[in-house]
Amino acid sequence: MNDITSKKGNESITARREEFLKAVRTLISVYYPNIRLDDFPSYKLVRNGGIHPIGILVSIILSQNTSDRNASIALRRLKERVGEFLDPAKLRGVSVEELEEIIRPSGMQRQKSRAIANVLKEFRSDPDALMREDPERLRERLLGIGGIGPKTADVFLLFVRGYPTFPMDTHIRRFLERMGIGRRSEPYERLRGRVLQLLPRDPEFLLAAHLAIIMHGRKVCRARNPLCHECMINSMCPYHRSKLQETSKGETK
Ligand code: SF4
Repeated sequence: MNDITSKKGNESITARREEFLKAVRTLISVYYPNIRLDDFPSYKLVRNGGIHPIGILVSIILSQNTSDRNASIALRRLKERVGEFLDPAKLRGVSVEELEEIIRPSGMQRQKSRAIANVLKEFRSDPDALMREDPERLRERLLGIGGIGPKTADVFLLFVRGYPTFPMDTHIRRFLERMGIGRRSEPYERLRGRVLQLLPRDPEFLLAAHLAIIMHGRKVCRARNPLCHECMINSMCPYHRSKLQETSKGETK
């Protein structure tokens, strides 16, 4: 797919951008006021406070490639072992082998326990750097840690640091593809860069958009059988338009 800044058929780029922005604003207005913190465990930790930033990063690692429920079980077990605050010094007192056993319910415990150990090592001398370091430099630093990918780094930067970035998960990638913004298989950084060109660089807006699109992907724009007919943004969705055209062509044959 071409970059959003190049011509795409007869469609005007400005019109496409405005349509996408309008769709995202609509999703925010529908979902964001009713967001349940229980649906976003890492965000809930940030909102509720009482946990060290390293602990929040650990919770984001636990949430990789698993359900919220399993990540929450693993996090509860870890808190039972080291305390609610997830103090980095106490976390360092747990061996990688024991950590692996504690976080087993979240799956991929081997990789995750090593990623957590790597984080603890990286910030050993200055754990508060997570809150102090220049966000772009911190992003680079996080991406240099084994087991930390761009999504984990961006979730931390957006949720905790209020930095205007856009973490993308499977729901968001699927939504972007259906909205004609990019292919879901595109490299993370390219797709992220394109979204950041299209949406306001306002951390509150990007946070609301991130949470709202995920809710939409879970409830309506599902992987299988998306509920396009009852979707509140179907008039702005190229995927829906193309499906309608296919249907009307089929009917006129
Ligand atoms: S119309 Fe269908 S494909 Fe488009 S956003 Fe809504 S549910 Fe997703």
